[in-house]
Amino acid sequence: MNNGLLVVVSAPSGCGKDTVISKVMDIMKDDAFLSVSMTTREIRAGEKAGVNYHYISAEEFNKNIEKGEMLEYARYGDSLYGTPLTPVRKNLDEGKTVFLIIEVNGGENVKKMFPESKKIFIIPPSLEELERRLRNRATDSDEAIKARLRIAETELQRAYEYDYIVENNILDDAVNDVMAIIRAEQLKIKNMQNKLREVINNA
Ligand code: 5GP
Repeated sequence: MNNGLLVVVSAPSGCGKDTVISKVMDIMKDDAFLSVSMTTREIRAGEKAGVNYHYISAEEFNKNIEKGEMLEYARYGDSLYGTPLTPVRKNLDEGKTVFLIIEVNGGENVKKMFPESKKIFIIPPSLEELERRLRNRATDSDEAIKARLRIAETELQRAYEYDYIVENNILDDAVNDVMAIIRAEQLKIKNMQNKLREVINNA
């Protein structure tokens, strides 16, 4: 039985999921752990190996699957992405809240392996606003932006599979909403039994 809470966070590209969770990590500090995924995709400008992802070959990726070292994995676009199991288990055993920022198919598989995990889906205020944000990043071509918007629409349909929906309109509000979810989960009776027993026995 794990002590910590496993939290899956998914969102279409451009919804600001990394920013929201990095602010949550700043608040939770050592009480939380953000999983670093493995990927076969190329490193992008501004990314750091070992921080954003572990960048590995398809061969290494498949070896990790064979060895049972992937909690889950999925293909997204032309690349493979997966969550290393060992650090997740270790941090859950230490009682930490563990965040996985992953796409929807991976999220579905996590729930099968860890039924107690909680899933948060971050949505944009509207598809128009999402398009505006994607265009503001100015990193993608018009074609790529249109493709991302089409993917976003199909991903949004999968939000029904999640436990919680957080709208990222004002960043601080989205961060507070995630913190509220974590706190409410921590206060559930199954997580408070030791404390409750302590109070009752000392009466
Ligand atoms: P990007 O290439 O933009 O960094 O990520 C593409 C998608 O893959 C995003 O939705 C991201 O959340 C997802 N992703 C990142 N790491 C993992 C992982 O370990 N497993 C799964 N299933 N998806 C991941």
